[in-house]
Amino acid sequence: MPAALCGAAWLANAAKSDTLTAMSAAEDINTGENDALLLHMAALPPILEDMRAALASPLPPEAAQFCTHGRAWAATYVATLQQMVLYAETMQARGRFGAMEEDLTLLIVGEYLTQLHYGLPMSQGETVRPADMGFDHLPGHNHEAVKALMRHGNHASRRRKLAALMAETGITEADAGLDETHQMIRDQFRRFADEKVAPFAHDWHLNDTLIPLPLIEELAELGVFGLTIPENYGGLGLGKQAMCVVSEELSRGYIGVGSLGTRTDIAGELILQNGTQAQKQKYLPIIADGSLLPTAVFTEPNTGSDLASLATRAEKTDSGYKIIGAKTWITHGARADMMTLLARTDPENKGHGGLTMFLAEKPRGTEAEPFPAKGMQGGEIGVLGYRGMKEYDIGFDGFAVPEEAVLGGETGKGFKQLMHTFESARIQTAARAIGVAQNALELGFAYASERRQFGTAIYDFERVAGKLVMMAAEILAARQLAYLAARTKDADQRCDVEAGMAKLLAARVAWAAADNALQVHGGNGFAMEYPISRVLCDARILNIFEGAAEIQADIIARHLAQ
Ligand SMILES: Cc1cc2nc3c(=O)[nH]c(=O)nc-3n(C[C@H](O)[C@H](O)[C@H](O)COP(=O)(O)OP(=O)(O)OC[C@H]3O[C@@H](n4cnc5c(N)ncnc54)[C@H](O)[C@@H]3O)c2cc1C
Repeated sequence: MPAALCGAAWLANAAKSDTLTAMSAAEDINTGENDALLLHMAALPPILEDMRAALASPLPPEAAQFCTHGRAWAATYVATLQQMVLYAETMQARGRFGAMEEDLTLLIVGEYLTQLHYGLPMSQGETVRPADMGFDHLPGHNHEAVKALMRHGNHASRRRKLAALMAETGITEADAGLDETHQMIRDQFRRFADEKVAPFAHDWHLNDTLIPLPLIEELAELGVFGLTIPENYGGLGLGKQAMCVVSEELSRGYIGVGSLGTRTDIAGELILQNGTQAQKQKYLPIIADGSLLPTAVFTEPNTGSDLASLATRAEKTDSGYKIIGAKTWITHGARADMMTLLARTDPENKGHGGLTMFLAEKPRGTEAEPFPAKGMQGGEIGVLGYRGMKEYDIGFDGFAVPEEAVLGGETGKGFKQLMHTFESARIQTAARAIGVAQNALELGFAYASERRQFGTAIYDFERVAGKLVMMAAEILAARQLAYLAARTKDADQRCDVEAGMAKLLAARVAWAAADNALQVHGGNGFAMEYPISRVLCDARILNIFEGAAEIQADIIARHLAQ
């Protein structure tokens, strides 16, 4: 039977109606079954702890990247499941564990446990299984709780129930569990994105224009660029969780707008953690109020993932340094006023110890003259997506930087300073990815509800609604993992691993959501006039920058082994 007719039959049997709303009563999973599964979930913590320990155990002698990266991915799933257990407990205690929250939780827990035991996708073509990681089985494979969750968690009846619930309410996401303050921030930025970003995003993308300066000024007034900068430096003094919420909502409108704060966050963190008093006083207030736009200048044509080996030189002069070398992929490079620029000050030291971070001011460029400074020139790189700020190649040929531009006044510390900052940047990137994924889900949901085939809305077909339900479940899980990383950072603890895991998972979730939402659009998804075509392009970058997925897995694997 053709798949579409299968779907129609499924629907007809379920409800004898062409609406999923009516189906919910007929197909409801009984409450007792959910209660039993929730009890099984309560038994997971020691099993997950055993899994985590197994994944950190010595590697088999022949272990190579597939094994170590597989373990990193599996550890990411374990951390996600731990967060989902915590989420269920907390939301139950607060009386906020409604049907959507409960069923999405059980669905993703069942699905991720199954993937852990039978194979999880590190990318579309790479499925890692326990044997690849040096195990016959992962701990818990025979445990009743695990078996029950794998059997009943991601069950067709649960997906149908969730699809009906989404159709009935028009809501595609679970309560994220935010406190009142963060919920208010979310509501404010959601309204802002709905009114001032989303309606214009597709035109900015299609016309490849810069995000208008008046919008950036409005964002500055709302405090977006000073969110996490302390109040005594003119910021709002909020934590990384607030940054997550804001980045997510703005990226749900358009990734370009959600990413305006990335460079500010990198510069702000670098200065706050490492700057001299003078640098803090000079830069933090003007970063916070949005009057100074920074750009991050690290990558080179021959040096991307292996940043420690970069070649751009900063040669000492009487008054400071002159920069010589080539940089690439510099986002918002032309319109920026200041570069956080990583260059080699010690030519004898070819490793990370030879690198220094500069706070190098530059004049703001225009479209006609992007880099109007002596010793600096560059050109735009055409890109598939992630437009709105534009990316540039920049060549430095003696660009002068004063002595006081050395971050913290210390040479040779640039790489370490940057790596520390990447924790925060990766949390922010995870949040951007979640916003993009939510946007894809909403576009897919709206299209599927309107588009009719075989006499019914395509949403009524199990393979269509099921994709959207799985997106909602993965978004909930990725969001909880990002919040874990943010909370860890807010508690002033190192969180390379949590941040790396959050970014790793959220980027894959965003790509899967965009790809599946485009699939739901059929041929129209391939037409540039449909926003999902943009979201697909935007989602693709998230697995590449701020540390590609393979590099994230490598970082996590190294920490696991310690
Ligand atoms: C749209 C966009 C915006 C960007 N914005 C900025 C910016 O503002 N500032 C800036 O400095 N940079 C920026 N970048 C650069 C970005 O950070 C790099 O592209 C990224 O770090 C990857 O480096 P690369 O492109 O040189 O890829 P490479 O390092 O050459 O990697 C290519 C592939 O090989 C894999 N690989 C590399 N090493 C390993 C390994 N050890 N094990 C397994 N796999 C490996 C990678 O994961 C990747 O899949 C941007 C890039 C893009 C595309």
